Amino acid sequence: MPRIRLISDVKKNRQTGTHIQVDFGLNEEGYYQATCYGHGEYVNASTLHSIRRIATDPLGWCSGCKLDKALAFEEEDLE
Ligand SMILES: [Zn+2]
Repeated sequence: MPRIRLISDVKKNRQTGTHIQVDFGLNEEGYYQATCYGHGEYVNASTLHSIRRIATDPLGWCSGCKLDKALAFEEEDLE
């Protein structure tokens, strides 16, 4: 059985400013996982290649990041 392991340390995402970490087997056994530490949401993928790509785009899977981005746009419109 593969053990839980850290793949990539917490990194600040350029788009959202939130911190994303990549692990293996953290919440879903046998799957890679990217976690948004700003909002506590995560997504799984079966390959390391996929999860690395997904991890750089939290707007694609974290509703908290999407909401923050939407609110930021609204603030820009008000100026
Ligand atoms: Zn997020």
